Amino acid sequence: MPRPIILDSISGLRQTVAGWRANGESVGLVPTMGALHAGHISLTQLARKKARRVVVSIFVNPTQFAPHEDFTKYPRTFEADVDRLAAENVDAVFAPTPDIMYPPGFATTVSLDGPAKAGLEDMFRPSHFAGVATIVAKLHIQVLPDIAIYGEKDFQQLAVIGQMTRDLDLPVEVIGAPTVREEDGLALSSRNVYLSETERRIAPVLHNTMQDCARRIRAGEDGEQTLARGRGIIIEAGFSLDYLELRDAVSLAPAGAEDVRQGKPLRMLVAAKVGSTRLIDNIAV
Ligand code: AMP
Repeated sequence: MPRPIILDSISGLRQTVAGWRANGESVGLVPTMGALHAGHISLTQLARKKARRVVVSIFVNPTQFAPHEDFTKYPRTFEADVDRLAAENVDAVFAPTPDIMYPPGFATTVSLDGPAKAGLEDMFRPSHFAGVATIVAKLHIQVLPDIAIYGEKDFQQLAVIGQMTRDLDLPVEVIGAPTVREEDGLALSSRNVYLSETERRIAPVLHNTMQDCARRIRAGEDGEQTLARGRGIIIEAGFSLDYLELRDAVSLAPAGAEDVRQGKPLRMLVAAKVGSTRLIDNIAV
């Protein structure tokens, strides 16, 4: 199995992509923070289907972590990640250091509105999406891929990236990919390694409760009452709940009974802490 080319400079990345472009080859990008799991791999497999060449970036982006968050202890498993990507025929891994991405004097941040201000993650991680959108804008400009793939697991992030890419006329098609889950419903996440045995046992309550709420709402039960009941179940299971919300799947605006009746595409989104680990998830309704 050929090993992916490992790139750590923007000029090297651009040269590699230019070589492919000179041969008329299409390019797909899958941005990650490493600690790769089957969810990330499903994104690279989708990229493989849609583009001749695949670049995976591995960069734990400091600007999307608040000072009290887990930047320094975020899992870093670079060698194992590259082995996994080699098995998936990924062509290049772009793994810059923070000062390549943010050289001394760096002073620009993408400013966001719309889905970035939906009142979900932004309420609990106020500077998070500015960090995400800035690094993703840079990656889209550095690689200039035909397509870039992001997981629906981070549903608000996917909406923010789509909006930013359209608004800045970046010539990249943003594609969302379905969430890969454990058998008991827990969404795969690099942060799941933080969970103790007991926490791991209660973690699937998030997905199971959302599924139950979604079924009830589709069957005509009152949305607010159903969500209130769902919130109670999640808290009772031992979580500290940030939100459980029903939203328009496109605008992320709050969804009411009328939206349900009209059969609009809706999304249920949840964020909750179990112990010190914060988990997020969402499903279509
Ligand atoms: P991260 O390394 O956590 O920043 O994630 C990199 C990409 O993988 C993002 O686009 C995520 O939405 C996506 N991703 C994370 N977890 C999953 C999952 N369980 N299924 C599918 N995609 C995922």
